[in-house]
Amino acid sequence: MQTANLINGQWTHGGGDTFGVINPADDQLLAEVPMSGRQETLAAIDAASEALAPWQERTARDRADVLHELSRLLLEQAPRIGRILTMEQGKPMAESLGEIGYAASFLDWAAEEGCRIYGDTIPASSNNKRILVLKQPVGVTGAITPWNFPVAMITRKLGPALAAGCTQVIKPAEDTPLSALALGELACEAGVPPGVINIITGDPVAISDAMLGDPRLRKLSFTGSTEVGRILMQKASTNLTRLSLELGGHAPLIVFDDADLDIAVAGTLACKFRNMGQTCISANRFIVHDSIHDAFIQKLQDSVSALVVGNGLHEGVHVGPLINDPAIEKVQQHVDTAVASGATLVCGGSTTPIESMSDRFYQPTILMDVTPEMLICQEETFGPIVPVVRFTEDDEAVRLANATPYGLAAYFFTNDASRVIRVSEALEYGIVGVNDGAPSTAQAPFGGVKHSGYGREGGRYVMDEYLETKYVSWQFTD
Ligand code: ADP
Repeated sequence: MQTANLINGQWTHGGGDTFGVINPADDQLLAEVPMSGRQETLAAIDAASEALAPWQERTARDRADVLHELSRLLLEQAPRIGRILTMEQGKPMAESLGEIGYAASFLDWAAEEGCRIYGDTIPASSNNKRILVLKQPVGVTGAITPWNFPVAMITRKLGPALAAGCTQVIKPAEDTPLSALALGELACEAGVPPGVINIITGDPVAISDAMLGDPRLRKLSFTGSTEVGRILMQKASTNLTRLSLELGGHAPLIVFDDADLDIAVAGTLACKFRNMGQTCISANRFIVHDSIHDAFIQKLQDSVSALVVGNGLHEGVHVGPLINDPAIEKVQQHVDTAVASGATLVCGGSTTPIESMSDRFYQPTILMDVTPEMLICQEETFGPIVPVVRFTEDDEAVRLANATPYGLAAYFFTNDASRVIRVSEALEYGIVGVNDGAPSTAQAPFGGVKHSGYGREGGRYVMDEYLETKYVSWQFTD
């Protein structure tokens, strides 16, 4: 297992402080990795700056070939990397393998988009002039990524950055650096030149301060909490560093009276219990029509009772441990305050003991009689909890859905075509799933509005995040 920083193609421990990476399922110490700070970050930016010109001089097809090779190696080694991912993050092995496929798809998609970066020519206002619009790579970029999708959140940034001709300095989350370092090893094997990818583990404040304090780093792409996004935005003002911010969410999921309840339950399972509810697009508030409320809860409870909670490495497990102790405390607080304010526990509501394992396994939980002012309807929960609120009128459902500062993903279930259009247009969200609990895919633009941030990742849209637009006005001299 790789445990060092990758700087300029070299694996370096640096000889300084380290920090431990723990398996959330059983508290086992998996590895010690470098507690890097300013010095390592600057060394990585040096390397990324040196590597920039030769990487840009390659053809887009050459760069695409390297990215496709990295994708191929990632898929080939999915069982090994998936195991590392499950051990440091907790998600069931089947989900880790799914994440690796998803991660590879971003590399492949970006590789091809990089071959289709088009400029423009624009008719000029005089005959002896030509106007050219060039798309050029922004330069050295940074990526700060979260622990919930430790491989895919990197490739979603790395793929388009490299395809566009940028180089990158990556800081993975402290809880999950090992799968990121394993990806770095594969990148070296795939032929990514030294300095084009650099990965440093360590102190998030020192590393991000060094990134944003250095004018050579032209862009930072961040996925994480709104709170940290705000801090980074303030610090980015020093060098006017470009930002992409994919921040927190508080996704509503509306079940209308005409919905197919089997599809609504399947969608709920997909977007609520995947990754133990720890995704930024997990549904966090279930807004269910009064007339089908009881039937929906009954069907959902039947499905939820079949979910197996346990160590993600074990066959047949659907729900692994939450990432750390603060995560468990937050989930319990959301459930307890809801119940204290009048919500009814349908099932779950506490951690579940598992022999020889940690206390971070939370039972899949359904709460009904939830009202919008409860904490669970205000703050992102990041856990396997389904809080259900009732509604009667469409307008009321949309109003409840939009009543949050966040705007990442929203879901609704209906078979009425005009409702599909009306509600999709009225929801103030960057992503809307209609009868679909799993909308994320490499070819679509992923990102939010309001306090969920800005910028889009995926599809052709992501390329703009890593490109500058240059206008050349050319006047003939003869
Ligand atoms: P989460 O609550 O999901 O852990 P965070 O926003 O805390 O989300 O973490 C996402 C990423 O941001 C991680 O890589 C983490 O190390 C980094 N991070 C956390 N705090 C800071 C900070 N103050 N400045 C810069 N990066 C940070």
